[in-house]
Amino acid sequence: MPSEFELIARYFTRATSHTVLGVGDDGALIAPTPGREMVISTDLLVEGTHFLADTDPAALGWKTLAVNVSDMAAMGAQPRWATLAAALPTPDVDWIESFAGGFFDCAASYGIDLIGGDTTRGPRAFCVTIIGEVPAGKALRRGGAKAGDSIWVSGKPGRAALGLAHLQERTTLAEPLLTACLAALHRPQPRVALGLALRGIASAAIDVSDGLLADLGHILEQSAVAARLCIPALPAAGLERDCLLAGGDDYELLFTAASSVDNDVAALAGKLDLPLTRIGQITAGPPGDLVLCDDSGTVITPAIRGYDHFYVAGPRNGIDGPRRGIPVTQSEGVQSPVPGDRDGILGQ
Ligand code: ADP
Ligand code: MG
Repeated sequence: MPSEFELIARYFTRATSHTVLGVGDDGALIAPTPGREMVISTDLLVEGTHFLADTDPAALGWKTLAVNVSDMAAMGAQPRWATLAAALPTPDVDWIESFAGGFFDCAASYGIDLIGGDTTRGPRAFCVTIIGEVPAGKALRRGGAKAGDSIWVSGKPGRAALGLAHLQERTTLAEPLLTACLAALHRPQPRVALGLALRGIASAAIDVSDGLLADLGHILEQSAVAARLCIPALPAAGLERDCLLAGGDDYELLFTAASSVDNDVAALAGKLDLPLTRIGQITAGPPGDLVLCDDSGTVITPAIRGYDHFYVAGPRNGIDGPRRGIPVTQSEGVQSPVPGDRDGILGQ
């Protein structure tokens, strides 16, 4: 059985590309780029709370870093360095090798140097601290949304939750939607290029980790504004709608921008080859208030309070998925199969 030091040397030490001193000393040395602010974020993933014991280790390794990269994207930051603290039960070297493989795949994809960490025996848990850089004063924050701004979301939010529902046999997905949903669940693609492109365009941004409505709620609260959401092709009530509105775990970007730059945002979608959907507008209503309309503009829920059970029902505390999981509404019951190829924000 390898020692702690052999584990670190064998699995968590790789050449760095932009670090003064990496793994191996009492501390790492990094040289911040002059004129940039550093953005720092930490996420802790605990077995039994954020992921299940039988989770594929390579996917978990990817996701452990990816959820942190997503926070950098939401700040408009370029991710640069990370540390990894790992608590591991009796070393299972095959498991650790796969985990490290997934972790370094993600690090290589986003140009991140792993510069240190800590390794200890214990119930399986991983804590990543990530450091990014942003030109001074240019970070995207949650608090800048203004009445009249458009509300946008990237990609196909809800797919990760739908993939989890399939694995939990709460629905049956057909191809090609199944593959797309499982990819969203296991290998989320943090939207760093979008975050960088949104500097100077977006008025507020957040990554969708807890669900569209919940995360939009954070923007509304911090910006002291309200919103009217009119999501194109909103799925009918049921699992699909719940996944889209409250599923989370997709790590898409939800952002606001002045309606005068709607065309610039739409042009970004083509440039980045990433769907960007305008899903509503910020209004001057009571701070935090949110109304949801259907395609015809008819209000279908009076306020975000109608979705309060999404906030409190289980996902934050229960074993509902790799990070947050999805809520299960009281009325949900047995779901009918979801078509594999459909229009709308979840579809192809
Ligand atoms: P110390 O006793 O000074 O805390 P450690 O023995 O814990 O040092 O770690 C030795 C070196 O290995 C340090 O540079 C530390 O940052 C690094 N390290 C430890 N665990 C990890 C890990 N899981 N991933 C990356 N680097 C690690
Ligand atoms: Mg240590």
